[in-house]
Amino acid sequence: MIVDAHTHVVVEGHYPEAWWAGLADLFARHFQALGRDVSPASVRENILPRFFDPEGERLLQSMDEAGIDVSVLLPLDYGLALGDPADSLADQCRWLGALQEKYPKRLVAFTTVDPRRQGATEFVRRSVEEWGLRGLKLHPGAGFYPNSRESYRVMEVAAECKLAVVVHTGQIVYPLKSKFCDPIYLDDILVDFPELKVQAAHLGFGWRDGLNQMGATKPNLFTDFAGWQRMATGGGESFIRALRDALDHFGPPRVFFGTDGPYLRALMKNLDFIRLVKNLPAQSPHGIGFSEDEIRWVLGDAAANFLGLLDVG
Ligand SMILES: [Zn+2]
Repeated sequence: MIVDAHTHVVVEGHYPEAWWAGLADLFARHFQALGRDVSPASVRENILPRFFDPEGERLLQSMDEAGIDVSVLLPLDYGLALGDPADSLADQCRWLGALQEKYPKRLVAFTTVDPRRQGATEFVRRSVEEWGLRGLKLHPGAGFYPNSRESYRVMEVAAECKLAVVVHTGQIVYPLKSKFCDPIYLDDILVDFPELKVQAAHLGFGWRDGLNQMGATKPNLFTDFAGWQRMATGGGESFIRALRDALDHFGPPRVFFGTDGPYLRALMKNLDFIRLVKNLPAQSPHGIGFSEDEIRWVLGDAAANFLGLLDVG
């Protein structure tokens, strides 16, 4: 079983305009570094719409192409940082719930809310009871610490509703702020909510050494390596070393494959990312060894276990 434990379906109205502007700028600078004169305005108009997926069809198609059985869909609430998007958070989460209902064996949808929003705890409850959402995603890059008083209130509801929790960790692109995304701020939650299962996203990127040590010491901490495609291209020694380190510290049942799609598919196809991971035991690249068993956990069994996927359909 292959599980993408961290992905996104992109709908234009789900993100603030400032997010699209920042992303267009990032893409344009990337093209310019490759010697191509592409303006942010042209990226916004011609390239970003290729990722828009208002029916979820592009997501399902890419899952089929790559052999991904189940994807975990994570919404994002950047509204307090960047301005509210066209579609309200409630509309987004209701839409995700409907999409999950349409593909019950393929999709697991989470809710999200900036804990500083009024009614944040009620929103999480409503997400579970009304829309059937099955986990909580927090993105502290919007400007809050995951161990703040407001976050704790939301965590209490997550624990009560037995929701899996995913928190973004690691440095984050402009215009969001990285300092809130240091995995050390999860430590309070891991201790104060021992029953809560928390997935620190992206191996904490530049904070991965600290995250690994936390993984070795806190049994309710999990991680995913979504977004590591950039380090995995062209041989990928830094990615392979990072995956080995994560497995050594967390143990295979707590490390998940993820794509953070769809943007990174342009850099590395999901199929190629999966193939790279699948071939690790046979190839031992750079002299770094992996067992078949470890890779089976990483590609799906660990996330399936975390999510209680046996309940799906
Ligand atoms: Zn993500």
